[in-house]
Amino acid sequence: MSTRTAVVTGASAGIGAAAARSLARAGFHVVLGARRLDRLTPLAEETSGTALTLDVTDADSVASFAERVPECHVLVNNAGGAWGVERVEAADEEHWRWMWETNVLGTLRMTKALLPKLVDSGDGHVITVTSIAGHSVYPGGSGYTSAKHAQAALHETLRAEHLGDPVRLTEIVPGAVETEFSVNRFDGDTDRAAKVYEGYQPLAAEDVADVISFAATRPSHVNLDRIVMKPRAQLDGKTFHRE
Ligand code: NAP
Repeated sequence: MSTRTAVVTGASAGIGAAAARSLARAGFHVVLGARRLDRLTPLAEETSGTALTLDVTDADSVASFAERVPECHVLVNNAGGAWGVERVEAADEEHWRWMWETNVLGTLRMTKALLPKLVDSGDGHVITVTSIAGHSVYPGGSGYTSAKHAQAALHETLRAEHLGDPVRLTEIVPGAVETEFSVNRFDGDTDRAAKVYEGYQPLAAEDVADVISFAATRPSHVNLDRIVMKPRAQLDGKTFHRE
């Protein structure tokens, strides 16, 4: 069997980087996309993959990225994140715009750009990393939860629109994962970010990556629609058992 190609967005850190490693170990040729090429290049060497700059908020960047991907069997829509924790009455539109541009429109642009190649492959697979924030809400989370809800709705719509096409759709729905996510959310405040993960064992990026690879390596008639995964000590977006 010829090598299958997996594109991973947001592969320069966290879940995306771990997913790239895991998919490469599973035998995929990985194409790594993110804005920070300096981080992608060593990972591409390590995984014998390809590093390409990608800004999912920029239509031209997405178009030139897609042009350089001759074939695609798996697309992992992972680029994204949260910015801020303001209540609705104090919502910062710049934060909202960033979250919607990256998580929602980024997923839309990447999927539009690569879907023809995924279908043409005869066995395509779109794996979208949403969040439990895409299926519930919490105080101070409206910008992120609304974006993740929209991203989840976009993903689920594709499942309906492509029923009958040779393309699978899997939504990965993680709870708390210790990555740079919270540092970014809190504008680089590492102490505040560390508190998010205090008193319990959060998921690691590798835990999520394992599940992404598991979904991608099922036989092609098996569609894992949605996989929700949380730390054992997490009930929902705001309830944790902390020691
Ligand atoms: P992370 O460590 O902050 O990584 C985010 C990745 O997204 C980075 O590689 C970043 O790369 C990339 N990215 C951001 N903006 C981008 C853009 N405009 N174009 C291309 N790439 C961009 O966070 P993470 O935890 O791994 O998050 C990955 C995904 O999991 C996100 O969609 C997040 O919402 C979701 N998630 C995270 C958690 C959690 O608790 N950590 C829970 C549920 C869901 P560059 O900066 O180099 O572009």
